Amino acid sequence: MRKGRDPDAGLAPYAALMATSRGRRNPEPPADYRSEFQRDRDRIVHSNAFRRLVYKTQVFINHEGDMYRTRLTHSLEVAQIGRSVANALALSEPLTEAICLAHDLGHTPFGHAGQDVLNECMREYGGFEHNLQSLRVVDELEERYAKFSGLNLTFETREGILKHCSLANARQLGELGRRFIEREQPSLEAQISDLADAIAYNNHDVDDGLRSGLVTIDDLREVALFARHHATVSAAYAYLPSRRMIHEIGRRMIHDVVSDLIEETTRRLGEAKPANIDAVRTMPRPLAAFSEAKAAEHTDLKKFLRTRLYRHEHIEAQRSGAGQVLRGLFEAFMQDVTRMPAEHRDAALAMEALTGMAGRARAVADYVAGMTDRYAFQEHARL
Ligand code: MG
Repeated sequence: MRKGRDPDAGLAPYAALMATSRGRRNPEPPADYRSEFQRDRDRIVHSNAFRRLVYKTQVFINHEGDMYRTRLTHSLEVAQIGRSVANALALSEPLTEAICLAHDLGHTPFGHAGQDVLNECMREYGGFEHNLQSLRVVDELEERYAKFSGLNLTFETREGILKHCSLANARQLGELGRRFIEREQPSLEAQISDLADAIAYNNHDVDDGLRSGLVTIDDLREVALFARHHATVSAAYAYLPSRRMIHEIGRRMIHDVVSDLIEETTRRLGEAKPANIDAVRTMPRPLAAFSEAKAAEHTDLKKFLRTRLYRHEHIEAQRSGAGQVLRGLFEAFMQDVTRMPAEHRDAALAMEALTGMAGRARAVADYVAGMTDRYAFQEHARL
């Protein structure tokens, strides 16, 4: 920035510094009062894809109730956790926030059910990965600038958004794909954002699961992390109404894993002493991590949620219904691209002219993936 405070002041040498940023694909003059990572965050918040997250499923289909997490509130919780950790470790808070807010921009409607169905529909045409789609949203699909497609974010934000990627796709992604081929790490900010995602969903899915009645406090006491905090809270308070009990346990669980993450990462940083961000990238393993014991507890919680909540028959029934809706939409638009709104139809025709049916399929997938849950239902009813 030209007039504001030095954005690198007070950050650790191994943080993502503005001074060593690899910059934007289309060079732009610096902003007056914002760092480039703050600018990335602001571009993400103003994007269409970000606003649509409010009507996209996290676990419970959007119309099931107003109290459940959506992709938007999930992303905000991820950003809150990520920022706290970044700040405690003297890493770039705006970069962490930008990555966290953008990490699910490419998610289809209907959560993972939607992702799986779209991936099957796209099997012959290069597949569909929501992670790669998040990158596609910020690199190609947002239309907010006269001079270029996408949001023209910095390398560091894009590196963080692309959490995983197949080798075949990595080879097409140039500088950004290189780390998957050479087995390098992303920045610490990206590593933190990835773990903040897991902390956020593990904990809010406990809350949403309890709210839905699909799992109970007694069920959750099988999980060591939950059981421990349940015991402490029960011992400290003779009687607590269940909502307060659940939230009291929830915040203690988050505090527990977040503190562990900060302490273990500090320990690893002390051992490895990376001189700068490139040293972080060439480490054989991530420096941001839980301790072994906490990682095991966190994994147990994740397994519990997978078998008892995500595979609950109620959720499975929603999944299959939602899957049929998406498949129906994909097939209808593939057959006849003129059923899509004009700009998507034109994109499909232009991409088909370049790469044949794979191009047409990609444009259809872009359109379908961008839908909110309720828009997908509406479109399905219309067709
Ligand atoms: Mg997420």
